[in-house]
Amino acid sequence: MPSYEFTCPTCGGFDRRHPMAEVPESVPCPRCRRQARRRISGGVLLRSGSAGTRLLDATARTAAEPSLVAAPPPRRSPRVTRNPLHRKLPRS
Ligand SMILES: [Zn+2]
Repeated sequence: MPSYEFTCPTCGGFDRRHPMAEVPESVPCPRCRRQARRRISGGVLLRSGSAGTRLLDATARTAAEPSLVAAPPPRRSPRVTRNPLHRKLPRS
């Protein structure tokens, strides 16, 4: 089901999914219940459970609940190239 953008005059934009045949021109705002008009855009075609929806859900989740970090990332050893041609490169 495609997702459509609506804009509330006081709260701003939000997305709502509707079947293509039943897209209303305005819907009540989920926050203040005023009529929010549909923004004309391409619409986003995403199947629920698809990689795209999972990515969007994970991104939205980390915005509100960032994942906790228990330790600093492991130190990396400096990269050493083994290509013999790189020995001729100038050293800084
Ligand atoms: Zn509103």
